[in-house]
Amino acid sequence: MARIVQKFGGTSVGDVARIKNVAKRVKAEVERGNQVAVVVSAMSGVTNQLVAYCNEISPMHDQREYDAVVSTGEQVTTGLLAIALQGLGMKARSWTGWQIPIGTDDAHGKARIESIDGEGLIRCMEAGEIAVIAGFQGITGDNRISTLGRGGSDTTAVAVAAAVKADRCDIYTDVDGVYTTDPRIGATARKLDKITYEEMLESASLGAKVLQTRSVEMAMKHRVRVQVLSSFSDAPGTLVCDEDEILEKELVSGITYSRDEAKVTLVGVQDQPGVAASIFGPLADANINVDMIVQNTSREGTTDLTFTTSRGELDRALKVIKESMKVPYASIVTDKSVVKVSVIGVGMRSHAGVAQTMFKALADRKINIHIISTSEIKVSVLISEEYTELALRALHTAYGLDAA
Ligand code: ASP
Ligand code: MG
Repeated sequence: MARIVQKFGGTSVGDVARIKNVAKRVKAEVERGNQVAVVVSAMSGVTNQLVAYCNEISPMHDQREYDAVVSTGEQVTTGLLAIALQGLGMKARSWTGWQIPIGTDDAHGKARIESIDGEGLIRCMEAGEIAVIAGFQGITGDNRISTLGRGGSDTTAVAVAAAVKADRCDIYTDVDGVYTTDPRIGATARKLDKITYEEMLESASLGAKVLQTRSVEMAMKHRVRVQVLSSFSDAPGTLVCDEDEILEKELVSGITYSRDEAKVTLVGVQDQPGVAASIFGPLADANINVDMIVQNTSREGTTDLTFTTSRGELDRALKVIKESMKVPYASIVTDKSVVKVSVIGVGMRSHAGVAQTMFKALADRKINIHIISTSEIKVSVLISEEYTELALRALHTAYGLDAA
């Protein structure tokens, strides 16, 4: 017997027929002799609608009330799925975040889970009752409802799996696993059987939208084995797990991209101590995320400094710089038509030349690189957006990832 947490995303519970289909899957898991808890999202489109209502009434709404509103979508799904399960002769009950409780901090709209009491859930599961849990929500120290940020049901599922010491957390979604690159672009993308936590974390934060980044952080921290699979097929999914569980490690496991990038260059900045601090300090204070940064060595006392941020934050970033930049500079140049392409693989730790393969593949296609950044297990380049597809396909082939 195993203890399994299953999570079903918005499209998987998108209408009544699909909820009934989910109930069948849950029942099948129980009939295999397993203890099961289920985490659900709101029916697809519902959260967007709720967010829109809040903005329509007041764009400057109280975030605590926003959470009271947008958390309701998940509650509806828990009740409906419990009813569907009961209809199949199963014992099941719904749980909202506060009933468990799932304690969070008070960062409304993007709260972090601080504690989960697994006792009640474990008792429920041991008594043969299926716990149907609302994803995406929790309760703050002062008893207000909180939500975990868009896509947060993944994080609820992994956190619940850790709290009830589940053997596995199965995330059912509309893709049937993690691919070597976006299958919509790289026609030859391959589904991976397994991927390490580190690689999954990099790909989630580098733009692949399969799992919420925080859920992967949580899985890595608590060593929760996560399987990504489709609720619409019976194909095996991709297991996100420890490196030790993967016997045949690939040098590179995937190529990701993110279009949500904007490049900012401060031209002719006077080269003196404190330049970087005087730019990035105010940006950090304004909660603007900066990603890639390059500064050239100076010629004749001035230098160019380039960084990237998300497109949505570009205007705010420019405003902050213009208002707070104390060091003299000649001009600011921005570019919104850039994309970040990244090659990810734990194999890079022990192999040389991985970056060179990337640079050569791009050079052969005459694709110019604006910025390069690296970490232990990834190399990212910023290129012009028009080359996205070409670059992804070229890299996929260059690293031998194409499906046979
Ligand atoms: N319903 C929430 C959203 O749409 C949470 C989730 O689905 O994971 O973001
Ligand atoms: Mg999701």
